[in-house]
Amino acid sequence: MTLHAELAAELAARDGEGLRRRRRLLESPQRAHVRVDGRDYLAFCSNDYLGLASDPRIVAAAKEGAERYGVGAGASHLILGHAAAHHELEAALAAFTGLPQALLFSTGYMANMGVVSALVGRGDAVFADRLNHASLNDAALLSRAAFRRFSHNDLAALERLLLSTPARRRLVIVDAVFSMDGDIAPVPDLLELCVRHDAYLLIDDAHGFGVLGAQGRGTMAHFGIRSDRLIYMATLGKAAGVSGAFVAGSEALAESLVQQARTYIYTTATPPLLAHALLTSLKIIEQEQWRRERLHELAQRLKQGLQGAPWRLLPSDTPIQPLLVGGNAEALALSARLAGEGLLVPAIRPPTVPQGTARLRISLSADHGIDDVDRLVSALRHTA
Ligand SMILES: *Cc1c(COP(=O)(O)O)cnc(C)c1O
Repeated sequence: MTLHAELAAELAARDGEGLRRRRRLLESPQRAHVRVDGRDYLAFCSNDYLGLASDPRIVAAAKEGAERYGVGAGASHLILGHAAAHHELEAALAAFTGLPQALLFSTGYMANMGVVSALVGRGDAVFADRLNHASLNDAALLSRAAFRRFSHNDLAALERLLLSTPARRRLVIVDAVFSMDGDIAPVPDLLELCVRHDAYLLIDDAHGFGVLGAQGRGTMAHFGIRSDRLIYMATLGKAAGVSGAFVAGSEALAESLVQQARTYIYTTATPPLLAHALLTSLKIIEQEQWRRERLHELAQRLKQGLQGAPWRLLPSDTPIQPLLVGGNAEALALSARLAGEGLLVPAIRPPTVPQGTARLRISLSADHGIDDVDRLVSALRHTA
């Protein structure tokens, strides 16, 4: 068999298991009401939690950034690609999170790869929650450190692993908000374990930044914690509505990443116009509390509306509200029935989530109205 024939057979097998992934074509900006494949839909698919992805003020800032800096950075940060806008954004992110220094990466995937492989290597150990985002797993594998996973939020299991490791440098890595479940990691307890067992804690706040804590300052603010054992990472393409990510912590940490994080060094700097746009996004995140209040109201409405429905919402106090369906085919069929009624809600299947836990990942945005949630609830109730 040729490579191409083998690939075609593998794709056919995926089809048979209901695991073939297909892309829809988005023809409008990302928001609650979108145009997709030539048709209008109400969508619950994005991570644009605050509804900023097409905010006119941020669009204007991006245009202004393009006028000022052009479209491409043209070089990596360490050559001549580190623009004033990048630098200004790093200072703003450090101030916003209350940490000494922040370092900007082009994507969250790259930030995780960069920070984990810069901090640990052979002879060290990484401990990871089983439900962590794929980028954290890939980062741990790339680092060549011993990689141990513990069951979701199982602090006792983590402690056993920490007690038995011979590794000198120990790094615990978790999603602060789990991307497919919407629950918040017990960060204060994890931190306490790290202090007791001489480990460091990296939290990936992709889904908490902008959403949790006073003024959207994220999961650290949500819990009111601060520690030099904590390394903070968050992304800027979700609630912040643009693109990119950052790692924040001590000056020594940030400066070491500049020297050693390969996904920072060996890549073209992200366009400075995006950093410029993010300065405006950050101000909106800080000032417009109504967006977080709206998210809270929408989640309450959804939970009330689905009481007694045949599927159960997983317990979540974040805009990620997964509806547990179970089988892959069932989840796909439910998602397809909703699409037939003009509602887009993605079916999430293995390997993204464990076998038997296929779900609809309902994600709420401040761009949704109460009437949008009511429409989803009524469609779910009568398709049941
Ligand atoms: C989305 C996500 C990432 C990747 O961030 P990108 O900027 O999209 O590359 C990393 N970690 C978590 C938990 C995420 O949800």
